[in-house]
Amino acid sequence: MRRAIYPGSFDPVTLGHLDIIKRAAAIFDELIVCISVNSAKPSGLFSPQERMELVRAVTEDLPNVRVDCSQELVAEYARRNRARVLVKGLRAVSDYESEIQMAMLNAKLYPKLDTVFLYTRPKYAFLSSTVVKELARYGADLSDFVPRQIIEQVRAKVARGGQDGILHSEKE
Ligand code: ADP
Repeated sequence: MRRAIYPGSFDPVTLGHLDIIKRAAAIFDELIVCISVNSAKPSGLFSPQERMELVRAVTEDLPNVRVDCSQELVAEYARRNRARVLVKGLRAVSDYESEIQMAMLNAKLYPKLDTVFLYTRPKYAFLSSTVVKELARYGADLSDFVPRQIIEQVRAKVARGGQDGILHSEKE
């Protein structure tokens, strides 16, 4: 069984993430989308629990995709879940530099672990969760950026200022 992990913040999941999820799910037997709560981005707009629910909502039709959340190092999470592949999406050369460093670090922590990079579809190359949050703050149309099932939730959360989300994730 080839199990892969796609780790990230997913705050919130975008069409760029979903494209990588679908393509990775077609390559591997099982894909675990793991919301990593890391020290670099301790709080966010959505709590980790909410982010999981959003990813679940947009991957319902993908039977080999599982959604999880972790506070541990990704390499430890992979070892514990007996996964030997990490999937990462690459948008630009700027992503490459930090991702290659992370890939080498993860291989040092868990030598059986390899990182597979999937290039972004050009139409999503500019897309990030940060861009989505910024657009939502200005009330822009989000339909080209996030899956339609979650547009309302993103809009509502940003309108509330995300304060409940921030408090939520600090407690966890
Ligand atoms: P961000 O907050 O920048 O959207 P995440 O930490 O949630 O990023 O991203 C998780 C993974 O998904 C990373 O490997 C990142 O490079 C990748 N990714 C993010 N957005 C895209 C996109 N538009 N196309 C391809 N890969 C992406």
